[in-house]
Amino acid sequence: MLDELYQEIILDHYRHPRGRGELEPPKITQEGFNPSCGDEVILDLRVENGRVQDVRFHGRGCSISQASASMMAEAIKGKTLTEAHAIIQQVLALVKGETEGDPETLGDIVALAGVRNFPVRVKCATLAWHTLEEALKHAETASATV
Ligand code: ZN
Repeated sequence: MLDELYQEIILDHYRHPRGRGELEPPKITQEGFNPSCGDEVILDLRVENGRVQDVRFHGRGCSISQASASMMAEAIKGKTLTEAHAIIQQVLALVKGETEGDPETLGDIVALAGVRNFPVRVKCATLAWHTLEEALKHAETASATV
């Protein structure tokens, strides 16, 4: 099963999620669903001046999906859209086993590397990040029309 330390970090985020809840408007809301496990992540973003000013998530699902959303909320708050995209690419590469990930940049997120040997759980771990990717597209379209 998952490495013990990784499991500990994931359970901590699951039990004590960072950024759980909803934002008041104006906001971008994006829903993500992983049918293979039944995981759901609903993401609220507030983007101003090309930066993620605030982020919240809610939803339900397995510990990996919810812990991953918590890690995502913690990691991208205050980041520019470019930085957020770079983090998404790093996380997806980490989870797929393409890189080991830089603990300096990724922090707790490196724990998601533990799922790479479990293809079914990879979708759980990446759900929040794919949902974020969709939300950022909306943010970019919205700011382009201002
Ligand atoms: Zn799951």
